[in-house]
Amino acid sequence: MVTTTERDGATWFACEVCGMLFDDREDATQHERSCEGEEPTYLQ
Ligand SMILES: [Zn+2]
Repeated sequence: MVTTTERDGATWFACEVCGMLFDDREDATQHERSCEGEEPTYLQ
């Protein structure tokens, strides 16, 4: 889930997986989807 952080009077959106900050919620959400997708989870 994308988390929000307030800094210098602005709201930032952080990827919960790697911690990268975005100034746009959509950018953060899109990034986080692919960020999570990078980890292979082929546990069977
Ligand atoms: Zn990320």
